[in-house]
Amino acid sequence: MRLADPKTLVEYTATLDCIHCGLCLRTCPTFQLTGNEASSPRGRIYLMRGVAEGEIAGDDATYHDELEFCLGCRNCESVCPAGVRFGEMMEVARDRAADSVKRPWLEALARWIGFELVLPNRTLMRWSMDLLGFAQRSGLLRRVAPLFGARKDALLAFPKVPSKAERELLPIRTPARGEEHGEVTVLEGCVMPEMFGRVNRATVETLSAIGFATRTCGSHACCGALHAHNGELDGARALAKNTIVAFEGLTSSDGVPLPVIVNSAGCGAHMKEYPRLLAAEPEWRARAQAFSQRVFDFSEFVAAHAPADWRPRVDPGTFGRVTYDDPCHLCHGQQIRKQPRELLKRVQGLEQVELPHSEQCCGSAGIYSMLRPSDSNAVFEPKLADLAETRADTLVTANPGCHMQWDMGLDRAVLDVRVVHIAEVLAEASRPR
Ligand code: SF4
Ligand code: SF4
Repeated sequence: MRLADPKTLVEYTATLDCIHCGLCLRTCPTFQLTGNEASSPRGRIYLMRGVAEGEIAGDDATYHDELEFCLGCRNCESVCPAGVRFGEMMEVARDRAADSVKRPWLEALARWIGFELVLPNRTLMRWSMDLLGFAQRSGLLRRVAPLFGARKDALLAFPKVPSKAERELLPIRTPARGEEHGEVTVLEGCVMPEMFGRVNRATVETLSAIGFATRTCGSHACCGALHAHNGELDGARALAKNTIVAFEGLTSSDGVPLPVIVNSAGCGAHMKEYPRLLAAEPEWRARAQAFSQRVFDFSEFVAAHAPADWRPRVDPGTFGRVTYDDPCHLCHGQQIRKQPRELLKRVQGLEQVELPHSEQCCGSAGIYSMLRPSDSNAVFEPKLADLAETRADTLVTANPGCHMQWDMGLDRAVLDVRVVHIAEVLAEASRPR
């Protein structure tokens, strides 16, 4: 058997960008937990370089554990003076490491079902969530959960699957309320309609309130973000191509491609990076480039396009005192920080307070909270203390994974703080009275 060139196991050239300054250490959640250099961005880059240079074996246990321990939060990128593209390096390293990892059979099966079958297919996703909802209600989940060992508690703590009515898909077209200023498309997503159908409806309602008609893509489901973050790059590329094709047909009456509005920070960050993901495929490169320029985060688009005098209003008791927690893939992945805060400031009747350390990861990190529940909880714990300092009644987020992590964490801590997506606040505020 011919052994792979170690340099191909990681993005070797990218590892050389690191100048070892160590500025990333103190903001890295896994370094904060352990104090170990190996669990820091710089340490992980050192491990990657060691593998590429043949100093560390490709199947080294510490190397693999550090790849999995990393949350992929990209906080390290925000502080790095050398512009190290850590998220990208991690995706590639995880993808290439997959051949040398022997996963327990149940985990391997669950990954195959999740990544290959369920996430890419809306019908199978719907059936899976029906099944999960049934298992939660009937007590079946409690009986099978022990099969999942240390992940049992995380499985049992998974938020309740909402009712069928709550999981209604969006209409194919929704008109603007009042005068129409334009038309956009909305990514419904894979998990979003199943767990947070109300967020999708609030997204469309807000866009309609500021004068935009919306369209959706029918059966298209997954953008491939979870695949990429978990090192399933072949699957991520296939889903990126599906997404590009699905949205290419959505144009204005003059044939101009419509903006694609994304209310999930992780998906938006990933879709903006399709050109990099498909860079090696010349026939897709230009299409990926054109597509990514159409992608806007929900807050990014609304802040840029709401009329200057748009000042929606809520009754002061509706949300009480609110605080905003930056999703990592919005602040570190897309550099979007001020728009959500500006939008909340526009809402009359809302008392807003800053959350300390709001750019620190909440520990959700896609499916990390299911894969490494105790690390995920340990990363989350300091966020509760930060929230307590604000005395907020409502925590605002902009990503479904963070939304679930906060819901589960507040449940565990028996704290009565409501968690909402920013679209829910804006939709409520812009409702005609
Ligand atoms: S992505 Fe997050 S957890 Fe991973 S090394 Fe960077 S800061 Fe640390
Ligand atoms: S901040 Fe950037 S250059 Fe400095 S050690 Fe971390 S990854 Fe390397």
